[in-house]
Amino acid sequence: MVVTLDLDASTSDPPVRRQLANLSLAVAKCKKIVVVTGAGISCSCGIPDFRSSDGLYALVKQQYPDVVLKGRDLFDASLFRDPTSTAVFYTFISRLKKSIDVATPSPTHRFLKTLDSKRKLLRSYTQNIDGLEDRAGLVGTSSDEVKTHGKGKSKIKTKEVRNVQLHGDIHRVRCTFCSADYPCASEHLETFLAGTAPDCPECAVRSTARVARSARALKVGKLRPAIVLYDEPHPLGDDIGSIQSADIARKPDMLIIMGTSLKVHGFKKLVKDFARTVHESAPPPSACAGSPLKKNAKNFAGKVIFVNKTAPGSEWDGIIDYYVVGETDRWVEKVIEDWKKARPSDWEVQKTLVATGDAATGGSLHVAKEITNTMGTKVGKGAKRKPVRHRENAPLPEDEIWDITLPLPEAPPSPSKRPQSRCHYHDVESSPSKKSREGARAVREPIHFEERGLLFGNTTNSKVRSTPENDFDLGENIRKSKASKIPKPRIPTSRVEVVLELRPPSRKALA
Ligand SMILES: [Zn+2]
Repeated sequence: MVVTLDLDASTSDPPVRRQLANLSLAVAKCKKIVVVTGAGISCSCGIPDFRSSDGLYALVKQQYPDVVLKGRDLFDASLFRDPTSTAVFYTFISRLKKSIDVATPSPTHRFLKTLDSKRKLLRSYTQNIDGLEDRAGLVGTSSDEVKTHGKGKSKIKTKEVRNVQLHGDIHRVRCTFCSADYPCASEHLETFLAGTAPDCPECAVRSTARVARSARALKVGKLRPAIVLYDEPHPLGDDIGSIQSADIARKPDMLIIMGTSLKVHGFKKLVKDFARTVHESAPPPSACAGSPLKKNAKNFAGKVIFVNKTAPGSEWDGIIDYYVVGETDRWVEKVIEDWKKARPSDWEVQKTLVATGDAATGGSLHVAKEITNTMGTKVGKGAKRKPVRHRENAPLPEDEIWDITLPLPEAPPSPSKRPQSRCHYHDVESSPSKKSREGARAVREPIHFEERGLLFGNTTNSKVRSTPENDFDLGENIRKSKASKIPKPRIPTSRVEVVLELRPPSRKALA
């Protein structure tokens, strides 16, 4: 049975509010989330709805008053059989791309990037061709960054893909003959607007070279928009198949479907395959027995959430667990709000301060880099250090960075008075012994300095010895907090990095 939760009812209906808060917490707790999206997530970005009769269609209609083409016909591979529908298609794409170029990513696109930065996103899959995920910071299948240049079977470096563009990318063009592809430039757009397509430069060079040695000229392909039409194979089909198989093998613990009417056949299959895997990876009911807290937490894993303005059809019974009624932007904003309240430690930002200048003249401190907390990364004494594969230190959206200014907050009078939310290990899924052990350690000394040195790639700290001339006054506050844990930096040999532990505001202050 699909549980329906209306975002509009979240303020007036306590049970709905509670269930929505539980879903937010589920997002915060899951670690391998697959997100699939459709046109609904780009509605708020200023991209005209190209299924409605006004807007872009009206403009195209002005240019081709006698042509009757429905929305579906404009995206069907059969359009290339007719020169007129081909011309209409090129003109339409040119106008659509121009309107996409001035659009900006929505809160939903930024949410995807947040999940990725927090190392919770297994992969994003989208039907959209607008490339707004890429602009939000998720590397897509059509990106130059993932292209392979070797002679291997794979055309892209699948491991580096964060967003799978199931229907291609309007920002690229592809040769109809040799498949060479290029970014879609303004001169391409002007040609498309006139209803034609430019020649492929690679084909042209090859042909000219043959003519120069008195051989027969070769066929020269046309550069068409690199989007995938209905009934057309995806040029990266094999690579996308491998990415999907790899993601299924990694047993995702949550599936979020947003802004799609779930009508396209291939897309429906992809969603059903992921939903089955997510349900299979859900913990068995026996694991949910025990304390209410444990039951609550275990219930979070293995859910399929559908967020859309229109309801899913009956064929999705037993596949979708929760249907959230409303705009995706509103839902993601609620998730982030609930998440920040429930797990403030996930949003902590550590800053690395760099001491510069001369100790005699006082020197100065500036922030070298900011590192957000990345969940699932243990930082305790016995923690395994895995190489960080995601772009952990990529710049974050403004609203994710807490404004922390000196002087630093004072350390609490005793370790026991530090808020428990600082600790990563209060996860109820841990065993009681592990919980107390890890919890106590995290409260006492969240990150050992030697490990910080490794985390931040600083090799100078271990060599610094405390001598009178090395003493460097970082200020009263620092000495009060964790000064005893911080080896004395040496000034002025070169630049010295000092890591300071910053305490996030208490839950109370956040609320
Ligand atoms: Zn070509």
